[in-house]
Amino acid sequence: MSAQNSSPSLSLLNVTLDYPDGEGTITALDAVNMNVHAGEIISLIGPSGSGKSSLLAVAATLVKPTSGLIFIDGIDTQGLGDKELTALRRDKVGIIFQQPNLLASLTAAEQLIISDHLRGKSLRAAEARAAELLDVVGLADCAKKRPHQLSGGQRQRVNIARALMGDPKVLLVDEPTAALDHERSESIVRLLRKVTDEFSVATVMVTHDTEFVPLTDAVATMRDGVMTAAVPAMQ
Ligand code: ADP
Ligand code: MG
Repeated sequence: MSAQNSSPSLSLLNVTLDYPDGEGTITALDAVNMNVHAGEIISLIGPSGSGKSSLLAVAATLVKPTSGLIFIDGIDTQGLGDKELTALRRDKVGIIFQQPNLLASLTAAEQLIISDHLRGKSLRAAEARAAELLDVVGLADCAKKRPHQLSGGQRQRVNIARALMGDPKVLLVDEPTAALDHERSESIVRLLRKVTDEFSVATVMVTHDTEFVPLTDAVATMRDGVMTAAVPAMQ
């Protein structure tokens, strides 16, 4: 569990997001408040269309909110330009989507190395870090395998390892288990719990599997863009 007295790694303050919709607008996020601390993993549940993916997009600074503030590792993102936001995402945010969009021609290790090398790290350092992270996600034996030689669960593990390459402060995960069977889903959620603890990252995981919510610290529910306050996940 996290040190709750520290300042949050991710903070959303009164965030509203309107999308144009014909003559009017759709309110995808309606005055949402959320704090996630280092080492904390929050489950985000709610029906389809309730605003879960919109929340992750705004938290990732991929979409600007209509109003409200987003702080990442204490940085107010509101005043930042595109270049600064790109750098902030690269340095502080890991994003994991349902489909691990791995490059078909690269090995598991290369998927990780290339992302770190693009950050300006030396190839050597990137190779060492990639080997370390593949070990963390249980794929030490698969470093040389290409995506088609891996199972769906293994591909998602590569995806998770890749998202951790930049040592992010915030991990945003959208339905990571939607394409997996029950057993593999559970092991992916357990892995997200483990890396959240081990790397002191602040994680938000959108999930339809309420069954795995007890593996996380708290659960927040979205409905029509409105978020209920996160409540502890353990009974
Ligand atoms: P969820 O992930 O919970 O299914 P979303 O965040 O994808 O929900 O969608 C929330 C609402 O915003 C829905 O009404 C959806 O139709 C709308 N929406 C999402 N993305 C866009 C977009 N790019 N343009 C217009 N409306 C959108
Ligand atoms: Mg969604």
